[in-house]
Amino acid sequence: MRNKLIYPYSDELLNYEFKQEHPLKPDRLKLTYLLSEQLGLLDKVKRIDATIASREQIEMYHQAEFIDAVISAGESGTPDYRHGLGTADNPIFPRMYDAASRYVGATLDAARELEKRASRAFVISGGLHHAHRSQASGFCIFNDVVLAIMYLQKKKPCKVLYVDIDAHHGDGVQNAFYNSKDVLTISMHQTGKTLFPGTGFIHEAGSGDGLGYSINIPVLPGASSTDLIEVLNEVIVPLFESYQPDLLVTQLGVDGHYLDPLAQLAYSSHGFEVVLKKLRNLASDICKIGWLAVGGGGYHPVNVARLWSLFLSIILDEKVPQKLPDEFIQIANDMGYTSFPEGMRDETEIVQQYYSREEVSLERERTVRRLKETIFPYHGL
Ligand SMILES: [Zn+2]
Repeated sequence: MRNKLIYPYSDELLNYEFKQEHPLKPDRLKLTYLLSEQLGLLDKVKRIDATIASREQIEMYHQAEFIDAVISAGESGTPDYRHGLGTADNPIFPRMYDAASRYVGATLDAARELEKRASRAFVISGGLHHAHRSQASGFCIFNDVVLAIMYLQKKKPCKVLYVDIDAHHGDGVQNAFYNSKDVLTISMHQTGKTLFPGTGFIHEAGSGDGLGYSINIPVLPGASSTDLIEVLNEVIVPLFESYQPDLLVTQLGVDGHYLDPLAQLAYSSHGFEVVLKKLRNLASDICKIGWLAVGGGGYHPVNVARLWSLFLSIILDEKVPQKLPDEFIQIANDMGYTSFPEGMRDETEIVQQYYSREEVSLERERTVRRLKETIFPYHGL
């Protein structure tokens, strides 16, 4: 029998809140936990408390001066723009160092369990993929993903495949491992020509030993589940099979969903479901250590709860009802969320009016063709 999936969570994670009107709302985590619990999914996992990472652990990747800057900005309330603190994206808040360290701690807790005997973990608070070595960026202070991968690789050399389907480019993770072929990063995102952080183009392919081990699939605004599934089949699956990673790490940001207020993609639950099922099966066949799934973006709290609970059910291979529980709908309403789909899955494909379907597909086909010509040869494909 397989070991239980590790699910780090504690209410203290809700203290990571920049300010009330900021899009990264703690309600995303609170509602996700609540819904997964109401669906009975948390009975199937091993929930562990999210601990605070030590300074030494954070220094595995982040510069000491930057860590000091996070501590002192939180104490003094004074902006420190050089370190990305106090900007519109990353406002300063009291005890921000503690909150950011607990986010790292949650993902490291999962990594430690994977190192022992667990083979799957889902860290809904994780996925702060924009944080850089010495700078906060895009709502991300410390990079829990980079730290978890570094932690595991330090314990025992292993090959890691990082798949990032957040609407934004996973720049922080890509940069950390740009020269390494022991971490293959694949990021599919809305093109940097139209969205933060403005990077993630095909030519960013890695350097030195890592050349060919950073893969970027930028897509046009309006890209849908069809595009997501095509990229899965044409790019992600062949690379997964040829790379034969020991560990799969996925950043499962859901800001690519059509309801999301920050990005302009149009994925639906169907596309996510196909991707998750395929990755689950590949990880179970190929990855000796297992699968570390983390959250990421997603700025419609009820939609995030709905999708991440669906994701958890897929990772666990458990069924969920068609409709959100009435009790959950009531609580979400009471919290002020009144407009959201009430099914666990989307019933129709939504076509966004940015580019036509044809333009989006043609651009995607061109991107995939170029990747196959330029990057696939590094992988014997
Ligand atoms: Zn995002």
